Amino acid sequence: MIVEDYKKVWANCLEIIKDTLGPENRKAYETWFVPIKPLQLEGTTLIVQVPSHFFYEWLDTHYIDLLRRVIRMQLGTSGMLKYSVMMDQTINGDPITTTLPSQARNAVRNPLTDIPVNINKENTRAIPDPFILPGLNKQRINSQLSPNYTLENFVEGDCNRLARSAGYAVAEKPGQTSFNPLLLHSNVGLGKTHLANAIGLKTKEMHPDKVVLYVTSEQFMAQYAQAGRDGTTNDFIRFYEQIDVLIIDDIQFWSGKGQKTQEAFFHIFNHLHQRGCQIIITSDKAPGELQGLEPRLISRLKWGLNADLQAPDVETRKRILRQKLQNDGIEMSDEVVEYIAYNINTNVRELEGALISLMAQSSLNHKQITLELTKQMIDKYVQSNAREITIDYIQKVVCDYLQLPVETIQNTSRKREIVQARQLSMYFAKKITKSSLAVIGMQCGNKDHATVLHACKTIDNLRQTDRHMRAMVDELEKKLKE
Ligand code: ADP
Ligand code: MG
Repeated sequence: MIVEDYKKVWANCLEIIKDTLGPENRKAYETWFVPIKPLQLEGTTLIVQVPSHFFYEWLDTHYIDLLRRVIRMQLGTSGMLKYSVMMDQTINGDPITTTLPSQARNAVRNPLTDIPVNINKENTRAIPDPFILPGLNKQRINSQLSPNYTLENFVEGDCNRLARSAGYAVAEKPGQTSFNPLLLHSNVGLGKTHLANAIGLKTKEMHPDKVVLYVTSEQFMAQYAQAGRDGTTNDFIRFYEQIDVLIIDDIQFWSGKGQKTQEAFFHIFNHLHQRGCQIIITSDKAPGELQGLEPRLISRLKWGLNADLQAPDVETRKRILRQKLQNDGIEMSDEVVEYIAYNINTNVRELEGALISLMAQSSLNHKQITLELTKQMIDKYVQSNAREITIDYIQKVVCDYLQLPVETIQNTSRKREIVQARQLSMYFAKKITKSSLAVIGMQCGNKDHATVLHACKTIDNLRQTDRHMRAMVDELEKKLKE
C-alpha cells in the first residue's frame, strides 16, 4: 500500500461527507470533520487522529452512521475507523496515545440497510466493550454497578461485620489500606455480589473521580477470548489497567479453565496493585480451597484481606426481612416476619425468595398475609428447598413450648425453667444439628462444651425416669421435625 493512500481515502471520505451534509451544514463540517487528521491505513482500517476526547464523543454520538457509511464506501464492508486521541492524562508519567476503534467493530448488521447498527447501549448490565473506550475520558466508563445493592441496605450482623467494615474502609481509601486485594468469600446467596457492588458505589460516592468497574469473571474471560480473536489483547489489558477500583465477581469460575485469562488478570493485578489501585474479588471459596486456579494468582489473593460472609443468625434475618419490606412499602405482622426468619435459614437469597413467593401468593389470590397463609406457603417452600434445623430454631420451638421469651436462653439466670429450656435446646441441638459441643454451648448462653454434655445427660436421664419429661421431649421432637 502506498504511504499516501490513507490521505487519499480520507480526502474521498471528506468529500462525500461535505456533500452529504450540504451547504446548510457547512459550519458543522468545518468544526467536526476538517480537524480530523488521517494517520495511517492498516488493511481496511483507517486510523485518524482527533483533537480531544470530547471531539471523539461528539463524533460518536452525532455522526457515527455517516462515518460508517463513507468508510464502507471507501474501504468495503470490512472497512473500519479507528480514532487516536492524545490523552491529556498521564499514566506513570508517560503520555500515551490511545487508539479508539470505531463502533463499527461492535456492530451488528441491519439486513435492511446493510449498515451496521449498534448493539443496544441501554442494556446497563452489559459490559461496555473495552475496545470502544480505552483511554477515554474516565467518566465515560460505565462502572456496571447496580444502584440497588448499596452499603446502606446491606444489613449488618455478626455474620458480615468484618467484611462490611473492611468494605467501608476500602471505599474510603481505595488502594490505600492493607485490604488490597479485598477478597470476599462465602457460600452462595450470602451477599458477596451485593457487598462488592456496594463498595463500588460507596467509592464512587466518596471519590467521584475514581474509575470503578464491576465485572464478573465470566464476562472478563469472554472479553479476553474475544480480544484474542480480534487481535486486540493489548487494548484489552490497557483498558483494565486504567481502572482505579476493579471488582471481579465469582473468581472461582476460572477454576480449571481460562489459564490465559488468569495470566492476563495476573498482569493486570500486578499493574494495578503497584499503582495503588484497589482490587476487590469475590469467590465462593477461601483462597486455600480454590483448586484449579493458578498458584501465583492464589498467592496474590492472600496478600490483602480475606473476609468471609457467614449465614446470618435469626436476628439478622429478621432485620433483613424488615428492611426488604420497608423498601417495598409492605406491611407484615411481626409474627409473620418471625415465622419466615426462623424457618428459612439457608441463605439470604432463599429468604428473599420466600418473601417474594409469599407476597405473590397473597396478591394473586387477594388474600391477607396472615400467619396461617405464611405457614402454608413457607412449609411448602421449605419442603422443596430442604430445610436445615438450626440451633436458633430449636431455641425458638423450645421457648415457645415453655412460654418463655427466646432471649432468656442467653441470660445468666439460674431459674429452674430457664435452665431447663437451655438444657433442652442443647439436647436437641446435639441430637439434630451437626454443630460441635463448643458451638452449641456458645449459642446457648455462652456455655462451655462440658455444660452441653452435662445438659444432654440430664435430659436423657430425666426422659427415662420422668413420664412428663418424656412426653415433653417427644412432643418437642415432633414439633421440631414437622
Ligand atoms: P452471593 O453473591 O454471595 O451469592 P448475593 O450478593 O447475590 O449473594 O445476595 C443474595 C441476595 O441476598 C441479594 O438480593 C442481596 O441483596 C441479599 N442480601 C445478602 N446479604 C444481605 C444483607 N446483609 N443485607 C441485605 N440483603 C442481603
Ligand atoms: Mg454473587
